[in-house]
Amino acid sequence: MAEYSFFQGVEKYFDQAAPFTGLSKGLLQQIKGCNAVLRVQVPLRLDNGDIEVLEAYRVQHSNHRMPTKGGIRYSEDVNQDEVMALAALMTYKCAVVDVPFGGAKGGIKINPKKYTVEQLEKITRRYTAELVRKNFIGPGVDVPAPDYGTGPREMAWIADTYAALKHGEIDAAGCVTGKPVNQNGIQGRTEATGRGVYYGLRSACSFADDMQTLGLSTGLAGKTMVIQGLGNVGSYTGLISQQEGGVKVIAVAEHDGAIHNPAGLDMPSLIAHRDKTGSILGFAGATQLAHRGDALELECDILVPAALENQINATNADRIKAKIIAEAANGPVTPEAEAVLLKKGCLIIPDMYINAGGVTVSYFEWLKNLSHVRFGRMQKRFEQNAFQNIIDTVEKITGKLVDARDRAIIVRGADEVDLVRSGLEETMINAYEGIRNTWKSNPSIPGLRAAAFVYAIKKIGNDYLTLGVFP
Ligand code: NAD
Repeated sequence: MAEYSFFQGVEKYFDQAAPFTGLSKGLLQQIKGCNAVLRVQVPLRLDNGDIEVLEAYRVQHSNHRMPTKGGIRYSEDVNQDEVMALAALMTYKCAVVDVPFGGAKGGIKINPKKYTVEQLEKITRRYTAELVRKNFIGPGVDVPAPDYGTGPREMAWIADTYAALKHGEIDAAGCVTGKPVNQNGIQGRTEATGRGVYYGLRSACSFADDMQTLGLSTGLAGKTMVIQGLGNVGSYTGLISQQEGGVKVIAVAEHDGAIHNPAGLDMPSLIAHRDKTGSILGFAGATQLAHRGDALELECDILVPAALENQINATNADRIKAKIIAEAANGPVTPEAEAVLLKKGCLIIPDMYINAGGVTVSYFEWLKNLSHVRFGRMQKRFEQNAFQNIIDTVEKITGKLVDARDRAIIVRGADEVDLVRSGLEETMINAYEGIRNTWKSNPSIPGLRAAAFVYAIKKIGNDYLTLGVFP
């Protein structure tokens, strides 16, 4: 069986959905291709005085909405095709969750573990300077965020470099998201993608007819979950699904091996063990599987690939037993594997929806940066006082007292993190309904991914039709 490059895979999914959109061939072509591809060399001076030249990219897939948005990945596997695929997925992802951005993505071909913190800072700052020079970054131009191998630390370096080169630009902080909270970041960004996966799974499992088709009970509680990749996305998905959704995480796979316990792994203890020892292996109360890939093939209700693309492909798809696959990573299931899994009746919740929590909260962070005020600052006390007055009045009229605990719950005004979580929850619920309704509206649409593409392409096409073509 033929396999595809990652970008070809995304194009294949696009082509599968295109006939259901009713858009013209030319318009579909405009939406499908990448608008701009930047490849730059990033030189790094080594301790021995020599220079190492690194390969780096930034791709803007679609400028139908501005700025463009997408993470920056540090990985040895980074290449132009991968960055193009990830940029395209960002366009569709933003459209699915109604985030008013075009799609972009960046990457540097390095294994960050092989460099010191000082070297990583130099690499990140030089890469940012290249983006500034080529006008590939800015709060109204293109706004990066963290992805595989990067996090708040790198985002802070990017923001600082941009501000230094664009001295006095009042909205400079909005040039990148996923920054540390004390550096113009937003509460709840670090957990956002994992929390979004949880809200998305909860939505999917709330439809009784869909669950019945899968032979599962309605609701998330008690369902078994296997996670591949305990990084940012995987760890918060597991933690929040367990703590707030009552999910049983029975296995976790990492780059150096996989562990299993059918009775369930305690996520806070596992994450603490990994943070302390640098590995999930050796965790008390779990057995190690022979190969890391074995975890993917375990009997479970929900499989969460949260590492890298192409993990479920033609070589292992027929051995996957999960009823639901939540694509926390970008592109973890190849088109060939999807065909096998859909035939088996598996519900694949596509990346462009299920991992959109990160870009959604990035959007909130960007809004915060442009408004220069923390969410909740203006209204929290006002709301608390108003609720107090209502309770006081109810007590006076009824002659009955509200106990202190109930009063505290009712009068609590929203903090920034409460507003971020509620905005994310609203977004994930609405978007799931949007893609599910599209799916159910036409029996020829083969699954949720095709439906998500149809839903996204129609919105983008509508933008183009209203905008017209310049000149
Ligand atoms: P991360 O670097 O924090 O974590 C990835 C983890 O996967 C690491 O712990 C790594 O050791 C592990 N891993 C690598 N190869 C593996 C393998 N073969 N088997 C098992 N584990 C393996 O990265 P992340 O930010 O959590 O991103 C993970 C995926 O989620 C990527 O596909 C990324 O594009 C996607 N994503 C991330 C975000 C975000 O906000 N960070 C948002 C949307 C999508």
